[in-house]
Amino acid sequence: MSDRRSFLQYMLIGASTVGAPTFARDYHKELGQKPFINAIGAYSSLGGEEMWPEVIEAMDYAAHNKADMEELHDAVGRRIAELVGSEYACVTAGATSAIMLATAGCMSGLDPELLHALPHPPEGAKDEVILQTSHQYLYDRALRTPGAKLIFVDSEEDLRAAIGPKTAMMFYVRKMKGQISLERWIEIAKELNVPTLCDAATTVPPIQALLDTVQLGFDLCCFSGGKGLRGPYSVGLLLGRKDLIMAAKANGSPNHAAFGRSMKVAPEEYLGMMVAVEVALQHDEEADLVHYKKLTNYMAASINELDGVTAEVVIDPEQGYEPFVKLEWDENKYKINKDDLKLALRNGDPCIEIRAIFLAFGEFHFTANMLKAGEEIIVANRVKAILLENL
Ligand SMILES: *Cc1c(COP(=O)(O)O)cnc(C)c1O
Repeated sequence: MSDRRSFLQYMLIGASTVGAPTFARDYHKELGQKPFINAIGAYSSLGGEEMWPEVIEAMDYAAHNKADMEELHDAVGRRIAELVGSEYACVTAGATSAIMLATAGCMSGLDPELLHALPHPPEGAKDEVILQTSHQYLYDRALRTPGAKLIFVDSEEDLRAAIGPKTAMMFYVRKMKGQISLERWIEIAKELNVPTLCDAATTVPPIQALLDTVQLGFDLCCFSGGKGLRGPYSVGLLLGRKDLIMAAKANGSPNHAAFGRSMKVAPEEYLGMMVAVEVALQHDEEADLVHYKKLTNYMAASINELDGVTAEVVIDPEQGYEPFVKLEWDENKYKINKDDLKLALRNGDPCIEIRAIFLAFGEFHFTANMLKAGEEIIVANRVKAILLENL
């Protein structure tokens, strides 16, 4: 690919692949932050995705134009709901906050005493959240924070036995497996009149996954705004039934006595999240995917020039919009193991970050979704150079 063609290609694709604009001050440099090449993807620990330029513009607008926060929150919720085909919506301080507030709302409804009592539900209150044992995950703390107890079930029989007057909500994590299918989970909840919440935080892109989740029949579902939706880092979305979302909102800011008062969302973030949804719905995601494939294919082909090294592009249907390069090498030939190659990339110049969590499974992955123009060449060359140094 010629430089000019690749430049045009970048200009046609989203902001995350365009070189960063230049600024009068280099804040990171002033603060001693080390720049790095992101071959890891939109990780929260590394700042998430880049916001769409339109999102930054909306945030700038909100910074200069003040509004009544409750009215703005409601109007943004109605607009997002209309865009995604949901009854209602609200912007939260991340998907985790959506889970906390939704759980609280299912426990309290609009009962002032219960709203005041959480996270210490009184005797007899609905304070149980049911989920499948296999859906226990990193973020289930968010369900317990408003004072709910987690009830784990495996079979449909367990589920029916667990549902009772104390049940506040049935929780489901999208794409996680379990004995009880998503369809049965929803059917049983409807039959026994229990509200449901589905965490679908990281299923976007494609944006169609969000539209589909809304239609599945869950009463509520939530998404992370700062990952694939490319909204502000700290926001999330709660979508679904208006009565339940109103109860969730009653547990949060700006209600001073609410347990969730600290999970405040800025007006910049309300507008930023709304515009992120608008842009995502208009954006050509297939063109992004073609671009990511081209970059991963380039890196794999370049690294495959080395003898005894296999670089393969993998498109996992579960993470379909993030193709990645999976790297294997003969460790008798290149005397460096996977952990040490990762460290050598991090400690080299420039610093390159790769997907670390897969190292635990003995797999060495890196992605192209967050690379800026030309960085695919640097990543491929650095990987080859380090392997060759260890020949
Ligand atoms: C990232 C993630 C969350 C948390 O999202 P935040 O917006 O960072 O609060 C929740 N659930 C799942 C499945 C996630 O991947």
